[in-house]
Amino acid sequence: MTSRTLTILGATGSIGASTLDVVNRHPERFRVVALAAHSRVDAMLNACTRVRPRFAAMVDVEAADRLRSLLRGAGVATEVLAGNDALLHLAGLPEVDTVVAAIVGAAGLRSTLAAAQAGKRILLANKESLVMAGALLMRTVQQSGAQLLPIDSEHNAILQSLPARFGGNLAGCGVRRILLTASGGPFRRIALERLRTVTPDQACAHPNWTMGRKISVDSATMMNKGLEVIEAHWLFAAAPEQIEVVIHPQSVVHSMVEYIDGSVIAQLGNPDMRTPIAHALAFPERIDAGVSSLNFFDLATLHFERPDLTRFPCLRLAYEALRAGGTAPAILNAANEVAVDQFLKEELAFDRIAAVIEEVLGRVPGQAGGTLEAVLEADRRARDAARACLAIA
Ligand code: NAD
Ligand code: MG
Repeated sequence: MTSRTLTILGATGSIGASTLDVVNRHPERFRVVALAAHSRVDAMLNACTRVRPRFAAMVDVEAADRLRSLLRGAGVATEVLAGNDALLHLAGLPEVDTVVAAIVGAAGLRSTLAAAQAGKRILLANKESLVMAGALLMRTVQQSGAQLLPIDSEHNAILQSLPARFGGNLAGCGVRRILLTASGGPFRRIALERLRTVTPDQACAHPNWTMGRKISVDSATMMNKGLEVIEAHWLFAAAPEQIEVVIHPQSVVHSMVEYIDGSVIAQLGNPDMRTPIAHALAFPERIDAGVSSLNFFDLATLHFERPDLTRFPCLRLAYEALRAGGTAPAILNAANEVAVDQFLKEELAFDRIAAVIEEVLGRVPGQAGGTLEAVLEADRRARDAARACLAIA
């Protein structure tokens, strides 16, 4: 049994909570050294009291101050750090071997890169960092000897369906293509004209998964699947035409790999993020994740269909950005973050999200995307263009 020491970035979120649940089932195997999050003091206090990490960081300085005094009052000896630089510090701690990258959005990029530079085993939930800076992140991982294990359920399923000897060469392993499954979200069947008036709560009511609000909206627009196509491109060195999206509303088949002999290998299970998290935490061993057995008799049938790109233009835009390459995916990601944020504030109609992203992709010229500076510049320009397009400050 290998024991591991962890930093969990995004500890107060949905993935953070699922990770802590798995880790707490195996105290002999995992020791949490550090937790980090943005500003939710109650959730962080709770986690610190339970796992007693050596360090806790809050990006928000005031939240860090409050956490510090509450922990002192509770007699918990955790040292509290504040600000963005604390994330980088905790991602590279010498006493940590595994970093869970579960911050949402572009805010997770620098800390994911810091973990890669420090040669850690990275359990990647923060797909946005690969979308923005895939070339840079993959190169950094390779140079430092870090290990990148996806906990996004689809990519974890693909990893499980590839041979153990897979070393970034799909053709060498006889793979024909990757079949990325998608639930289709809550609006798969709704009349198209109603997409103008759907509310954030309706968009976040995902049929199979309970997740943070940003990824829930991304699932409703299917931008989440678009980001995942780009994620799969980088993780598995797959060309865009080797990645096919298949709608599978039950979210039981988490993704599949098709081989040239006609075999299709899939990973199945109940939709519960603790399965891919446990897989990556213990890799290549297997541990109990607290997830119940899949009941095929209750399930009875599995349904599949082709995505409708008129209903889901975000999926088309993501393929286009991937094909354009360079900083185009970073521009796509940034425009999406601004548009989703406006939708969540009820200041943008749901069916305008894709229109804003398309306009920004047309306005901001793409460039080579191999450096952090180029990626951050593209991110900034895309956010400015999105705000101009939405007429917000
Ligand atoms: P969430 O909103 O529940 O949690 C987000 C976490 O990020 C919180 O801990 C928050 O404090 C932290 N955070 C937010 N802004 C930050 C900032 N500026 N600086 C530092 N920390 C910040 O989100 P989630 O659903 O847990 O998703 C996290 C990531 O995992 C996303 O990239 C998402 O796409 C990915 N993911 C989530 C799921 C899921 O089931 N929830 C599945 C696959 C992938
Ligand atoms: Mg996913």
